[in-house]
Amino acid sequence: MSDCIFCTIVAGGIPADVVVETDNVVAFRDIAPKAPLHVLVAPKTHVPNVAAAAREIPEILAEMAIVAQQVADAESGGEFRWIFNTGPSAGQTVFHVHGHVMNGGSLGWSE
Ligand code: 5GP
Repeated sequence: MSDCIFCTIVAGGIPADVVVETDNVVAFRDIAPKAPLHVLVAPKTHVPNVAAAAREIPEILAEMAIVAQQVADAESGGEFRWIFNTGPSAGQTVFHVHGHVMNGGSLGWSE
């Protein structure tokens, strides 16, 4: 999607600090980290949220979980919180599905 910031990152149109990349998935550091580990894991295909990903690209959603674990294995001893915001009232601001891989600091429920 031309007006999607994460599609632009996937296409290389905006620089990102990429930590893992596969044929289908990219993991990059959040531009405004809320924890010492805060990496976003997104599919290269545009789908708006995690339920749409489960319906439309289930194998890639599973690959996203494997990539999230790879990030945590490398950076936080294999342990992490994985958050998918769905909808503005839940805090979603980018409507290209992404899981927040977070750890470190003192994570509260709202983070
Ligand atoms: P959401 O609020 O949709 O769950 O998460 C969107 C996340 O994307 C936010 O944590 C925000 O800081 C991050 N973000 C927004 N724009 C950019 C960007 O251009 N580059 C990177 N690396 N992260 C971004």
